[in-house]
Amino acid sequence: MKVNIPFFRHDLGEAELASLAEAFKNPILTTGDLVGEFQDRFAQMLGCKHALAVTSCTGAMHMTLLALGIGPGDEVITTPMTFVATACAIAEAGAKPVFADVEQATGNLDPARIEAAITPRTKAILPVHLYGLMCDMKAIKEIADHYDLSIIEDAAHCVEGVRGGIRPGGLSAAACFSFYATKNLNCGEGGAIVTNDASLYERLKLLRLHGVTKSAADRAREGYTHWDMVSLGWKYNMSNIEAAILLPQMERMGRKLAERHRLADLYKKLLSPIPAIQLPSAPSGAIHARHLYTIWVGPSRRDETIAKLKENGVEVVVNYRPIHLTSYFSSLLGHRKGDFPIAERIGGSTISLPFYPHMPDEHVRQTASALAAIMNS
Ligand SMILES: *Cc1c(COP(=O)(O)O)cnc(C)c1O
Repeated sequence: MKVNIPFFRHDLGEAELASLAEAFKNPILTTGDLVGEFQDRFAQMLGCKHALAVTSCTGAMHMTLLALGIGPGDEVITTPMTFVATACAIAEAGAKPVFADVEQATGNLDPARIEAAITPRTKAILPVHLYGLMCDMKAIKEIADHYDLSIIEDAAHCVEGVRGGIRPGGLSAAACFSFYATKNLNCGEGGAIVTNDASLYERLKLLRLHGVTKSAADRAREGYTHWDMVSLGWKYNMSNIEAAILLPQMERMGRKLAERHRLADLYKKLLSPIPAIQLPSAPSGAIHARHLYTIWVGPSRRDETIAKLKENGVEVVVNYRPIHLTSYFSSLLGHRKGDFPIAERIGGSTISLPFYPHMPDEHVRQTASALAAIMNS
């Protein structure tokens, strides 16, 4: 396929190279001062007390479940309309993912369907802020409080999102973020957790590094002293190299979000007149983090539309086909077609269009006119 209109381009450049050059002068390449600085600024940006930088959002969710004592015999309610990583983290912790269907208008976990999925084994709810629109966290929090459940947010799409004054981490035990290559804030691979719970933060800090009481940076600062391993931990610590790539990007986040909103408005103006295209809606007053620009074209036309966009050199992807129907989770959990009809309808209809800050307006226009020609044919 000849790509004329790429799906995504990162914007890492001179600022990140200069920051990396500085990082190389630092004797600590692993978790050190730069990670500390990134954590402080990330926590401050989210308005949370603590942040921990890790190697991925998947690891962040896995570790947070473990730190909350969730494991074999427990159930965690989540959405089938997400990347597989969300449910993988639950399964990796030894717990059972239990899906509840999504809202027709947004694709987010529907708070009205959570209660029916609760059993005596349910320990937590794991909502995903799909495409960057926050779930209705106030409604989810009410249910969680009523049934004494923890909330862990998959905020991989949603560093910048706000809804009803609530940001990720605001009403939950913890929110988990991804800095994977194509995310709004990116460093190739990386992630973070924010929490306001000091004791959860301390447990996570241990789990992030083998359950040992001193890090390499501690040893460099204090000189060698004996350390202990006090619990079984993982190897999820972020290095100074990734932090060096992330720090300069924090200056640009506001501008980049505004630019994505401008491009999304242009898409909306061009695509709204096409009757066969439906756009996910967002409640008024919410600040959408706009990680993806996704359209819904109806299950009978989706694959054919993707093929024709390809012929036109437009690179697109699907976020997501519902994960309860993947071979692994359908056989693990005994799911079949029809179990979550709204997620299935959205999953069969959806196409993510090329979208990133600094995407040329011309590419938005060309994508929209290719779509108009395909949908009206
Ligand atoms: C990217 C993504 C993840 C996984 O993030 P990693 O940092 O790659 O582990 C999890 N959930 C959602 C919704 C994602 O888009």
